[in-house]
Amino acid sequence: MSSTSSPVRDCVILGSGCSGLTAAIYAARANLKPLVLEGHEPGGQLSITTLVENFPGWPEGVQGPELIENMKKQATRFGAELSMAHLTSVDLMKSPFELTIGREVVHTRSLIIASGASARWLNLPSEQALIGYGVSSCATCDGFFASGKEIAVIGGGDSAMEEALFLTRFASKVTIINRSENFRASRIMLERAVSHPQIEFLHNTLVEEVLGVEEKDVRGLKLFNRKTHERWELPVQFMFLGIGHEPNATMFKDQIDLDADGYVKTEHNVFVSRQGVQMHGVYACGDIQDRRYRQAITAAGTGCMAALEVEKYLEELGR
Ligand SMILES: Cc1cc2nc3c(=O)[nH]c(=O)nc-3n(C[C@H](O)[C@H](O)[C@H](O)COP(=O)(O)OP(=O)(O)OC[C@H]3O[C@@H](n4cnc5c(N)ncnc54)[C@H](O)[C@@H]3O)c2cc1C
Repeated sequence: MSSTSSPVRDCVILGSGCSGLTAAIYAARANLKPLVLEGHEPGGQLSITTLVENFPGWPEGVQGPELIENMKKQATRFGAELSMAHLTSVDLMKSPFELTIGREVVHTRSLIIASGASARWLNLPSEQALIGYGVSSCATCDGFFASGKEIAVIGGGDSAMEEALFLTRFASKVTIINRSENFRASRIMLERAVSHPQIEFLHNTLVEEVLGVEEKDVRGLKLFNRKTHERWELPVQFMFLGIGHEPNATMFKDQIDLDADGYVKTEHNVFVSRQGVQMHGVYACGDIQDRRYRQAITAAGTGCMAALEVEKYLEELGR
């Protein structure tokens, strides 16, 4: 890790998920010796999942952590430096940019923001223990594994309705569990879900525990009705969270343009702006700028694009 007196870096990459690591592979192969800050979740979201079946090149699927480990090896082989560091603050008004990492300060000519968007979880110990074993926050990724099963979707907004409707393609029955009486979902999405024959609703209901930790396989949910105080078990074999995502971009507030939910606004996927004017040397990739697709392959794709833009930018600077 660099210190205040260290030479200015050409490229720092914030995040070690598949967008950050793909950017690192490209930047390292361009001889930019990128520094990758791994953050609170080294390897990103794929490091907490099990089988990934939709990443091209793995006909039998690949374990998320193995895919990430291979990306890390590929990046370091070409000279990327990985650091188990968490960026605490950033000053993009300075040139070169100034990054504070605990007590260390790093200066860099370019920054790739690849800090992802963390799924919101219920944060129950049993839920956390079963992520990848029947608990998921990604219907597109894991819907196929729910084929023929009875499942639950947690949430009451549009993302929960959308997930539930998508999952009816696979699951035999979908129960939407909403903590309150009313739904935040738009009328049209709610109507679609209500009129679907495979979807049922539970209102005023909290999940107290996900059952199946010992077996490492979800077998049901322990539920509590907030109105009647009734407790019971719902037999399901999968639980999907549909309560949204939290983009990891708070530290950039006031420095770059974020949308109303805190995602980085980009042009052509990777160009970052401040007050509508494109910034030079700062790029974003992956889930931090993509609320629509949120896939490993799209994150990797934009990671590649960001690194190629860094290369061009540094070339223009005469580096
Ligand atoms: C359970 C689960 C299963 C999934 N399964 C699939 C699947 O099968 N197929 C698929 O295509 N997609 C899947 N996804 C989605 C996929 O994982 C994401 O789209 C992808 O990981 C996004 O990559 P990313 O690099 O943009 O961000 P992330 O993977 O979220 O990585 C963000 C990185 O930023 C770092 N970071 C954040 N803040 C800081 C900071 N201040 N300082 C330093 N570092 C920081 C974090 O530590 C992390 O390393 C799944 C997601 C989940 C949660």
